[in-house]
Amino acid sequence: MLTVESALDQILARVSPLGAEHVELMASLGRVLAVPVVSHREIPPWPNSSMDGYAVRALDTSVGDGARGLHVVGLVAAGAVPERPVGPGEAVRIFTGAPLPAGADAVVPQEDVAVDGDRIRVRSRVEPGAYVRPAGEDVRPGDRMLEPGAVIGPAEIGLLATLGCSRVRVYRRPRVAILSTGTELADLGTEPGPGQIPNTNSYSLMAQVLEAGGEAFNLGVAADSLPVIEERLRWAAADILVSSAGVSVGEFDFVKEAFTKAGAELHLWQVSMRPGKPITFGSLEARPVFGLPGNPVSAMVTFELFVRPALLKMAGRRVLTRPRVHARALSDMPNPGSRRGYLRVKLRADGTGWATELTGNQGSGVLSSMVHADGLAVVAPDSVVKPGDLVEVIVIR
Ligand code: AMP
Ligand code: MG
Repeated sequence: MLTVESALDQILARVSPLGAEHVELMASLGRVLAVPVVSHREIPPWPNSSMDGYAVRALDTSVGDGARGLHVVGLVAAGAVPERPVGPGEAVRIFTGAPLPAGADAVVPQEDVAVDGDRIRVRSRVEPGAYVRPAGEDVRPGDRMLEPGAVIGPAEIGLLATLGCSRVRVYRRPRVAILSTGTELADLGTEPGPGQIPNTNSYSLMAQVLEAGGEAFNLGVAADSLPVIEERLRWAAADILVSSAGVSVGEFDFVKEAFTKAGAELHLWQVSMRPGKPITFGSLEARPVFGLPGNPVSAMVTFELFVRPALLKMAGRRVLTRPRVHARALSDMPNPGSRRGYLRVKLRADGTGWATELTGNQGSGVLSSMVHADGLAVVAPDSVVKPGDLVEVIVIR
């Protein structure tokens, strides 16, 4: 049986980033940048004042402005251009964001000034550069501001606007087809009849796709029948296909065979983990296909560990892993059996670090205990994490 790490390595080695497209600036929120962003602007474009006050020559304040003070010879507001320089013994009234007049090298905030007609007295001396934002303090022409693979958030949007980028080149979102298999499944909108259960996986998996930045297509439910599943696979005009259930060793498990019959090359199918274990990964006409296990928690956890990193790579992301923290267990976390456990846990900050406990029944069909999970605690086979022990937790929200 494969380890989680080697399975993931094999998967990532076989997926690559999709192409790129241009989108309007605001549509790029949450998308992944496909090209470096290099500035052709200087920000700020000129030295400007960070306070409402008076533009002065710092030297005039350090030698003492004497009884006469400084002569206010002009005014410059934000959006204006200074009309004249500041000479010795002179000051210009200035407002936040306005360009510093030539000759001036500092700003005295108006709170530090006594005004007497067209003269001011400066109460305390200022150093050169005081309250002046130098040209290029933030951005210089030629600066490489953003790297490909960066996820565009509000700060990146602001920066792109500052740089005048009204359109942004981003990676295409992976289009993910989701198929649920199982004769027992009654889809949403239908009351389950005798022997039937509600279809859960199509919806949790589509939601995981959306959260990972993909587009989800619902291929619905296919009965446990080789021709039915095989035909459904031919519908998938997507970049990647994810199915659930029917990948185990039972008489009604047809997914692997259907993948193969449709022309897929399968690369692996059993991974040493709990929940999980049976998982199929292959390539169908150069597109990745995943057959996840059917139990709702197993489907979500295997998506989290294998499909999500693959989607992020296809979406152009450079960081494919979730953050991990070490948390102190608040109660027993048993992992009986020979497979590594990924246990559903709550996380909270307790002042000294992270504390964690199980969300409840860890059965692979118990989705209610996935609902409260902030993370997956990684627990070695045949072991019990004891209260007070540190355990590694993959933070999933
Ligand atoms: P299988 O992998 O086909 O053996 O399915 C494992 C378990 O998951 C069975 O109890 C199935 O009924 C259940 N299951 C399979 N698919 C779904 C689904 N889409 N929604 C909810 N439960 C499912
Ligand atoms: Mg089944």
